[in-house]
Amino acid sequence: MQYISTRGKAPILNFEGATLAGLASDGGLYLPQEWPRFSEAEIADMAGLSYAKLAARIMAPFVGDSLSQDELQSLCDRAYGRFSHAAVTPLKQFDEQQWLLELFHGPTLAFKDVALQMLGLLFETFLARSGGHLTIVGATSGDTGSAAIDAVAGRDGIDIFMLHPKGRVSDVQRRQMTTVLAPNVYNLAIEGSFDDAQAAVKRMFTDDAMNGRFRISAVNSINWARLMAQVVYYFTAALQLGAPKRKAAFSVPTGNFGDVFAGYVAAQMGLPIERLIVATNVNDILHRALADGDYSAGTVTPTASPSMDIQISSNFERLLFDAGGRDGAAMAAQMHAFEQSKAMQLTNMQREGAAQLFTSARADADDMADAMRWANDACGEVIDPHTAIGLHAARAAGLPADVPVVTLATAHPAKFPDAVERVTGMRPSLPARVGDLFSREERFDEVEGDYAALTDYVSQRATESR
Ligand SMILES: *Cc1c(COP(=O)(O)O)cnc(C)c1O
Repeated sequence: MQYISTRGKAPILNFEGATLAGLASDGGLYLPQEWPRFSEAEIADMAGLSYAKLAARIMAPFVGDSLSQDELQSLCDRAYGRFSHAAVTPLKQFDEQQWLLELFHGPTLAFKDVALQMLGLLFETFLARSGGHLTIVGATSGDTGSAAIDAVAGRDGIDIFMLHPKGRVSDVQRRQMTTVLAPNVYNLAIEGSFDDAQAAVKRMFTDDAMNGRFRISAVNSINWARLMAQVVYYFTAALQLGAPKRKAAFSVPTGNFGDVFAGYVAAQMGLPIERLIVATNVNDILHRALADGDYSAGTVTPTASPSMDIQISSNFERLLFDAGGRDGAAMAAQMHAFEQSKAMQLTNMQREGAAQLFTSARADADDMADAMRWANDACGEVIDPHTAIGLHAARAAGLPADVPVVTLATAHPAKFPDAVERVTGMRPSLPARVGDLFSREERFDEVEGDYAALTDYVSQRATESR
């Protein structure tokens, strides 16, 4: 399988190359040159496979000859062996129509583990072959930081530097990062403005003095391998609900459009999907884009679902490219104009292409609270604020009663205990496997957020690669 950039100018790469590159060199995102397709019989044959077996089967056409079948299976076994539930992503039933797919049974309690556990192993495997070294630099205020650190802690050939704004992440989130004491993990608590820190990280990627000395890579830039790994749970859920004979719909709490785009990929591969519901909070650029074709960025409003508080959804470019006729030059022009004006209109072709599969809904704080209460009162399920946004959209979608609607549960409620307690009056407790989080030793360095201090810190500790 070969990978092309959405902006048409970057070199075409195989799976190994696209995984290590992350972002394409022309500023675009990598996508498979064509979608692999499973026949109805092949999908029917997947019923009953274990998660790790199914994962290897779904990923195989994307991986191509970058890994042998045995290597791929062994990586899937290792990645998904670290989940605390035997089903990896168990499916629960709310009522006749509504279902919940729990994606938070990984080490850091958010769905990002599903992709990042695999990505960490892929990095390690590919680097071991080439003898190269990777320096991952990222800024986080949410779930990506902890999931990425857990995925690469102790792995050969990788150092990770993760910046968080000092005093502005939740205790659970901070401790999930700072209690990882592996020698290749560096946690930086940044003084001053977080925006400055994020700008400094971005600048490092384009700074030849840094990127020439270290092979700098991102985990929050949009790596194809992350999406590939997320396709798998659409298959597991749909198979349990009767695929390929019966269609299911999915409601996805959305920020960067990665998770829901994986559902689109599953549909391109032949999985019968009735609808993909893009659920946003009041930061609703995606809802406006899908409903009216108006993709224009405003200012971010902080909400109880912080992982969806976004202005720009990087992965949306993948949908616009694929649904809009896969024209790299046109995509590059459209995105460059957007980068200038922070606004664009979708073309008719993009709108019609997206409308075939996607609908969207926006949930405000009251909608979120109502959905959280319904889950609790009607079904005895405590759900997190992100999942509640998805559940609101699922119930508001008005799909025919015979179509099962699966809401993706993207985080464990104990990750956001204050918001859950405010609505339900109950404080969710951390699962036993992370229960000692608050007694573990923390390690982090306090660093000024300016560029010189940051590059100094990284240069003194990272491993040179070329
Ligand atoms: C990252 C995240 C999201 C948003 O997922 P995208 O792939 O960025 O759309 C939703 N919920 C939680 C809990 C997250 O951590």
